[in-house]
Amino acid sequence: MKEKTVPVLCPNGIHISPAGVLAKLLKEIDAAVELRVGEARADARDVDAVLRLALPHGAAVTIRAEGPEADKAIETTEAVLREGTAVLTKQAASAGGAAAAEEESVADMDADGKDEDEQAHFLAVSPVRIGRIRRTEDTLDQALAHYRKGSPIEEAHRFGAAVEAFIARMHRLIQASEEAGETRQQGILEAYSMMADAPGFHAEVSRAIKDGMSAPEAALSVKEKSAADMFVKTRAVDQREIGRSIARILLGLLEKPLQAGEPVILVGREISPELMARVPRALLAGIVEEEGSLAGHAAILARSRGIPAICDYGSLDKVEDGALAILDGEAKTLRLHPSEEELREARAVMEKAQATARRQAEGIGPVRTLDGVRVTLRANAGTPEAAAEAAQMGAEGIGLFRSELFFLGRDALPTEDEQAEAFTAAVRAAKGELCVIRTMDIGGDKQLSALPLSAEGNPALGLRGIRVSLAHPELLRTQLRAALRAASAGRAAVMLPMVTAVGELTAARAMLEEERAALYGSDAPDLPLGVMIETPAAALIADRLAAHADFFSVGTNDLVQYVLAADRTNLAVGGIYDPLHPAVLRLIQLTAEAAQRSSISVSVCGEMAADPLAVPLLLGMGIRTLSMAPVSLAHIRAVCRNLSLAGAKRFLADVLDMDGPADVRAYLEKKLEHVAS
Ligand code: PEP
Ligand code: MG
Repeated sequence: MKEKTVPVLCPNGIHISPAGVLAKLLKEIDAAVELRVGEARADARDVDAVLRLALPHGAAVTIRAEGPEADKAIETTEAVLREGTAVLTKQAASAGGAAAAEEESVADMDADGKDEDEQAHFLAVSPVRIGRIRRTEDTLDQALAHYRKGSPIEEAHRFGAAVEAFIARMHRLIQASEEAGETRQQGILEAYSMMADAPGFHAEVSRAIKDGMSAPEAALSVKEKSAADMFVKTRAVDQREIGRSIARILLGLLEKPLQAGEPVILVGREISPELMARVPRALLAGIVEEEGSLAGHAAILARSRGIPAICDYGSLDKVEDGALAILDGEAKTLRLHPSEEELREARAVMEKAQATARRQAEGIGPVRTLDGVRVTLRANAGTPEAAAEAAQMGAEGIGLFRSELFFLGRDALPTEDEQAEAFTAAVRAAKGELCVIRTMDIGGDKQLSALPLSAEGNPALGLRGIRVSLAHPELLRTQLRAALRAASAGRAAVMLPMVTAVGELTAARAMLEEERAALYGSDAPDLPLGVMIETPAAALIADRLAAHADFFSVGTNDLVQYVLAADRTNLAVGGIYDPLHPAVLRLIQLTAEAAQRSSISVSVCGEMAADPLAVPLLLGMGIRTLSMAPVSLAHIRAVCRNLSLAGAKRFLADVLDMDGPADVRAYLEKKLEHVAS
């Protein structure tokens, strides 16, 4: 048994495409591999199980492998957790695909639909496109009524053959995606192929066949059940589509050709990524779904391709196949048989969007709201390389350098020299902007093999963050010395995670001063010391902490879990865990007010800083610095540039008195429709 704990570093966590890639790569390796996060575990080859872990960026995952090729399995799994689907491009490059090498840094698409591609296209999205309608629904129900069921053995045999045909089709599409360099699409299709091949699916289908169902009925009903069970409802479409595709094969329904040599608008009940993959990128003008979701893969891929999508159009009965149409994603309208005049207007909108896109692509630079308020957008990073990439993507410094990521997956703790080297590289990568180094946040869901902590019944409430550092002062001192050394290479700061009391801050400050004096005497570089506000206690005594801290950074990822008593890693309470809960908002406001009264700076570095709905509220509270995964920078830049502070303050005043997060969300979605999509 081999074991290694590594961080998830692909920018948006492990969603369907990296999960698909992981399963595909591990299939070739002779070892059983399990992923563990806290109590949760998943067979790494089981896409559904891996998706259920919902691994976010920064999560520490323990990989356990057993078998003749355990080492290779760990190495491969680690590569996917760190780089996501980019490993495919790397493999292609090392196999001789020269052009592919340039795409190594391509970020992944995440579960909420933000990918680097999307960022590039965010403002290139033309809300209007012209295309020919292609209806994608089929006559499954009719065909089912005419299906001639064989014996259970025959049905099982037909099912097996249909799955093989489905997988063969996926492989053809995978190859086409690979050739087009569409690694995200490739990952999704890999996942489809794996999910169709999953032993659990086959076992359930054969049970249903034994119970009297026909093969197509069984495929449909098993996948319909998985769709209903999907925790993330927007992923249900994937389950359903696999069942429907296999049923279509069994029923002998031919896939209608979708291309017409001219742009098409795909129209259907739900549009699957597979359908979208069948239309070449340049010829897909948009999608219209009767009952999809903005967070579904079709909408995600549409955004990443810069085309409009209507996901909740309602009845499509009157939408004729083959008709020329103008799709307006903003107005949510589909104009069939447009006049010459309407076509001219639509073309003008498309050209204008393209011109705006060109200007916005050059949009890296100071961010101001519509009423001229300056907002600083920084990036969160875990390695010097990520810090350098962030700078290229327009980050104005590193707002959170998660130093513990450097500790994970190592047999021995990094030395002071190693840490100083990494911190210095990160500080240099920030190119004269601030780089905020967070001292190690070990414990909770991040465990170190090099520093085993005793098992705790409730690790999120146990020895974690500053508590571990104060329990092992030599480790904290080493980090402080390394940060002090890095500070002479540029602008650096240090901050402490999981603080709940002033004493923790003053103890760390005393150590910092001692180390500073020992290292530099009186001529020391500036190294401000800040506090992460990520526990309710810290927010409630923010005024006391402000008297001793140089700055605050609100860690909303943890703050939300502690305020709402909802474990951030527990999917069962995922619906309760919501940064837009008024209780969370009130605590952040308290923090912002305390910082302003003491004239210290305050930023937000949790995921909330990258949520377009939350950004106006944070600005309304007086927060002017946000730090986020680099992949979100372009989107949030655009959001800030389209907001006015006056409006943001009004939104904040309105939501603080609401009863719960659902009300806040509904209100903001309506108010921000034009900004936050
Ligand atoms: C947070 O808690 O919001 C945060 C930024 O820290 P982490 O996600 O690393 O706990
Ligand atoms: Mg935290």
